[in-house]
Amino acid sequence: MRVCVVGAGLAGSLLAWRLVQRPGVRVMLVGDEHRHAASAASGGLVRGYEPDEYNAALAVRGLAVLYASPTLRSWAAFREIGSVYLTAACPARRTLDAIDAALPGSLSLAPGDAAARHGLAGVPPGHTAVVERRAGFINPARLAARARREVILRGGVVRAGTVTRIRCEAGEWVEHADAVVLAAGAWTPGLLAGNGLPAGGLRTKLIRYGVFRAAGPVPRAFVDESTGLYGRPDGLGRMLLGLPTVDWDAPPGTSHRDGVRAGRSAAAEVRRAAARRLPEVTLGRYRAVAAADCYAPDGQLRLRPVAPEVPGLFTFTGGSGGAAKTALAASVDAADALLRSNRQRETDDDLSPVP
Ligand SMILES: Cc1cc2nc3c(=O)[nH]c(=O)nc-3n(C[C@H](O)[C@H](O)[C@H](O)COP(=O)(O)OP(=O)(O)OC[C@H]3O[C@@H](n4cnc5c(N)ncnc54)[C@H](O)[C@@H]3O)c2cc1C
Repeated sequence: MRVCVVGAGLAGSLLAWRLVQRPGVRVMLVGDEHRHAASAASGGLVRGYEPDEYNAALAVRGLAVLYASPTLRSWAAFREIGSVYLTAACPARRTLDAIDAALPGSLSLAPGDAAARHGLAGVPPGHTAVVERRAGFINPARLAARARREVILRGGVVRAGTVTRIRCEAGEWVEHADAVVLAAGAWTPGLLAGNGLPAGGLRTKLIRYGVFRAAGPVPRAFVDESTGLYGRPDGLGRMLLGLPTVDWDAPPGTSHRDGVRAGRSAAAEVRRAAARRLPEVTLGRYRAVAAADCYAPDGQLRLRPVAPEVPGLFTFTGGSGGAAKTALAASVDAADALLRSNRQRETDDDLSPVP
């Protein structure tokens, strides 16, 4: 089976790496490392807990794989700093059990006000702190680059370039592939539209955070649902801090400069939220970071067929601002699903009546 993966960010690179390890699969990965791709801008926070149970299951599996493999930890430049997730919802039992089973001793639950111990003050009543000792952050661009190198070492092909036409002149898929997977992140909806194909509800959204100079007791990685504030330490005396955005349909490749322009009022909001939750931390100057990511209606990174009339064409995107957590496991499932679908097509071809 010949598979062409379009897009060499975290999703495409990991999928190509998974596929090249499967017997009988020839892989061609096409794409450039875009400076303003989501994987280059990502904060890289990885933990097991996620409110969405499907994403949580992937995040837990991904974290377990990281902890089991020193090689992967080194590829991803993983740093363990722990995580606190403050939620007003009741965390799903299944998710908590999965974290416990995969990373024994990592998880503890506490009332929200106990998060003060982790430097997070003034949490409203009714919140739970999901505390994970074994969590931290990765460098998604570095992990993607290492995966691409491994694709080449294992006999796959990695080619620089931008795919514009998914079908070539003869009506075949690009690169004469049996299957094409569009893993072009925020570029995917435009690539589909440019080829007259439905986007399946995929949309883009800008994600923006600031890297602030920070003095005082900087907490471990955290998400606070009550203010929306999230953050993590970023080296000595610096903190990454952000708030959710509503900047839908942002153009892919949005630059850091655009982030700075749009980010001034956002930075003021971040400072206000931080003053409430991190009263002992003094924030100084900041550098804005922004990039568009691809959002699916279900918020999940998974393999999706584009349309019944174009068998063999899939997307692998839509991780909705959280794919650094889910991509390691989602790429395994996507490779499985792709091979299953190819086997099914071969069976259907064998069974179709001879004219
Ligand atoms: C600012 C920011 C912070 C984030 N923080 C976190 C976090 O803390 N934790 C977390 O879990 N997740 C986080 N995420 C989400 C996560 O990093 C992304 O979901 C993930 O990196 C997306 O990877 P991707 O490969 O789908 O897309 P991208 O990294 O955007 O890669 C897409 C690639 O496709 C290429 N491409 C595009 N069009 C074409 C074409 N026509 N032909 C060939 N190649 C093409 C591009 O050049 C690009 O390299 C964050 C995202 C952003 C933007």
